[in-house]
Amino acid sequence: MFDMDGVLFDSMKNHALSWCETMHHFGFTDFTPDEAYMHEGRTGTGTINIVASRYGERRVTEEEEKQIYQYKCEVFNHMAEAKAMPGAYELLRKVVDAGITPILVTGSGQRTLIDRLNREFPSIFRPELMVTAFDVRHGKPNPEPYLMGMRKYNDFFHTTLSQDNFAVVENAPLGVQAGVAAGVFTIAVNTGPLPDEVLLSNGANLLFPSMQALCDHFEEVFC
Ligand code: MG
Repeated sequence: MFDMDGVLFDSMKNHALSWCETMHHFGFTDFTPDEAYMHEGRTGTGTINIVASRYGERRVTEEEEKQIYQYKCEVFNHMAEAKAMPGAYELLRKVVDAGITPILVTGSGQRTLIDRLNREFPSIFRPELMVTAFDVRHGKPNPEPYLMGMRKYNDFFHTTLSQDNFAVVENAPLGVQAGVAAGVFTIAVNTGPLPDEVLLSNGANLLFPSMQALCDHFEEVFC
């Protein structure tokens, strides 16, 4: 089960900057790019609520939440297109060639990136085996997205595989928490600015410094 931002796309820098610009625009001026990395994996609404709650008297309505998230998406969509993460397609090809089924599990609701998946990673992901912000209520760090990924797999193939048959690939602390909480072997790839310790202390079973490094060790890890 592959996370998308920071794993398949080198998109986290754009997300961090667009969150920062958006929060400042709406008056939440203490928000920093590093905070965006710590919130990575939450739904947009989840992030907005946590930040807004620091501004006690300012309660955001559902309508404002929508506006803020829409603004963030617009800022993000005007940025230079995030590239596929180096090593990601090569790893996904190895996964498919080994007879393993890749599942996408992202908290993102950015349609531009989700649409690009098929262009950048042709014939890798089945639409039935994708979990996005449109599927989940809670989002990471809740295990729900990964539990749903396994459920979609079992429903699609009419099987009842347990979590021991799955693995998670994640770059974010909250994503690692979600994978671990779902009871799944969780591999962290540290593609961002946070220290390794943040991923390991959240329970990652293995850690690689990049997707290319995970790809280079594919046989040891997956076979
Ligand atoms: Mg991520």
